[in-house]
Amino acid sequence: MLKKLIGITLTLALIAGCSSQKDEKAAAGTGGSHPAAAEKRTAGAAPETDPSGFMAELKEELGNGYVIEYEKPFVIASNISKSEFDRFKEQTIKDCAEAMYKDFFEKRPEGLFKVYLFKNAATYEEYCVKKFGHKPSSPYGFFRDDIDSLIMNIATGGGTLVHEMVHALIRPDFPDVPAWFNEGLGSLFECCKIDGGSLRGEKNWRYPILMDAADKNKLVPLRKLFATSDSEFYGDNSSANYAQARYFCMYMQEKDCLPAFYRQFRDNFAGDKTGIKFIESLFGKNIDAIDKEWREWIKTL
Ligand SMILES: [Zn+2]
Repeated sequence: MLKKLIGITLTLALIAGCSSQKDEKAAAGTGGSHPAAAEKRTAGAAPETDPSGFMAELKEELGNGYVIEYEKPFVIASNISKSEFDRFKEQTIKDCAEAMYKDFFEKRPEGLFKVYLFKNAATYEEYCVKKFGHKPSSPYGFFRDDIDSLIMNIATGGGTLVHEMVHALIRPDFPDVPAWFNEGLGSLFECCKIDGGSLRGEKNWRYPILMDAADKNKLVPLRKLFATSDSEFYGDNSSANYAQARYFCMYMQEKDCLPAFYRQFRDNFAGDKTGIKFIESLFGKNIDAIDKEWREWIKTL
């Protein structure tokens, strides 16, 4: 049993991208696609609910050499081998989505998403140039909110895919989620394992960015981070903002209050759009005291 569990953990660690190879530039938002950067979907446009329509579109668009399958709410197309395809479909997409629904998201998407898993940088970039007229800003992948598409260079691992799945699946459940939490949660699960049906984020390549900011005395007070507008979050300090948001979500995970925080924040958003009130209530102390303890905690990782 233990051996089996470790096997699953290692597989997920592998496919959910716990490597330390990502660079500083990429940290600025898994490379440039987040809901604030993408155009919002056309208001009132009916979502696509029939997978056969998306499957036909993908076949037409990509041609031969692609496996196309449906795993609600995702229509997945890829030019990787069938065995790798099955692994990503089952262990990354299906299992991680179920874990997200179990602990976080109650309202499931009405419509479907297209998921492109390109086997290498060449086919990923070629597709982006053909579709959007330019190379992608991220070497890993991105979510296009306006066209309900997750587009990945899956050779870089499954971490970015899980990150972008958070953005896709949180949308119907918490449409007003602020960037700090949307990106904190997405970044947390870009390196994760599944334990008892729940996702658990682990330390990853954003940790050195966090500690570099800490060493230079450049950590933003949590009180300020949680009050940032989306454009401020994605602005000049985005790389450190992502790292701080991620490691505060990990802190809530360690304190066993991350799902509880999510539900309180979502359900009472109008009462406090920063989330600070709910964090203070769960921790039973003032945000500045929590900030101080969090700064000590990150040094222990
Ligand atoms: Zn993101």
